[in-house]
Amino acid sequence: MNDKKQNSCAHPSCSCPAAADGKYCSPHCETIKTGAEIACECGHPQCASKID
Ligand SMILES: [Zn+2]
Ligand SMILES: [Zn+2]
Repeated sequence: MNDKKQNSCAHPSCSCPAAADGKYCSPHCETIKTGAEIACECGHPQCASKID
């Protein structure tokens, strides 16, 4: 199948790749999908490095 395309997390402040079976990279992002957070705190290194 075409698995080359990788969706990004639907959270506006998150740049992590989303789960293959969902729009978000983690349950955390799905919980805060309103986008109220300035910085994503999903815990992934890709996001954590931005919260400096
Ligand atoms: Zn994230
Ligand atoms: Zn995310």
